[in-house]
Amino acid sequence: MSAEAEVKSRSSNSPRSLARFLMIFLLLPHTLPCPPVGASETEEQRSRTDSRESPETRKARERMVQEQIFARGVRDPRVLQALRKVPRHRFVPPAMQPAAYDDSALPIGLGQTISQPYVVAFMTEALELKPQNRVLEIGTGSGYQAAVLSLLVREVYSMEIVEPLGREAEARLKKMGYANVHVRIGDGYRGWPEAAPFDAIIVTAAPPDVPPELVAQLRPEGRMMVPVGRYLQDLVRLRRTPKGLERESLLPVRFVPMVPGGETAPR
Ligand code: SAH
Repeated sequence: MSAEAEVKSRSSNSPRSLARFLMIFLLLPHTLPCPPVGASETEEQRSRTDSRESPETRKARERMVQEQIFARGVRDPRVLQALRKVPRHRFVPPAMQPAAYDDSALPIGLGQTISQPYVVAFMTEALELKPQNRVLEIGTGSGYQAAVLSLLVREVYSMEIVEPLGREAEARLKKMGYANVHVRIGDGYRGWPEAAPFDAIIVTAAPPDVPPELVAQLRPEGRMMVPVGRYLQDLVRLRRTPKGLERESLLPVRFVPMVPGGETAPR
């Protein structure tokens, strides 16, 4: 079992209602239009996808967006477009590439995982990102989530506690042209105070409680997505409002635990 449980459905887990939904989806595709790949794609964005990738790979990614993400309710066109663009297969080890577009989390080495595509899309949409935003990610892992964010906002600051993973992701992101992602090796529990405040914070490893220093680095009206808990977690959205911190529980999830400062990283 991978370290992150798979989320099979956001709205319903009844096979019958899922079957009904899929039937409607198949019969009336035009009533649920998933916008096609944009004609407004820039040269820079185009160059980020692997020009050598096969039509099958591109189709697998499109299917991932349609069947795992759009079908489960993610509708933000910018988020869907980012998921179409980022070549997920280049963020997983070679042995995992055939499974890169599967509906699951995958191991990326050193006991860590790349999140399930739906969870990446769901968390990204819930952050309500705007192009001028600056975002902090805790848990760089493969760099995949950071790459998705980088297409949606101005700057991405990403922290990773396992040095070899962080360095590898940093090199990969640079090589692939995601120039607005900054990677730092360190304990994300304390955040990145020098770059704060952030419009949004996304935590992709689970702390037992919301880290107070991360809350302190959130700008007014800022949003944070964080899986809170020990084994099974609640995906929580926090929002800093004039009245205080708003807290919503959005989805049950299972992420790898956040390694607390001072302890050694897993394996
Ligand atoms: N976002 C990643 C997947 C994250 S897996 C991707 O897109 O691939 C969770 C990551 O969080 C792991 O790489 C783990 O090493 C890292 N992590 C765990 N505790 C951490 C901490 N305290 N600070 C920073 N990173 C941490």
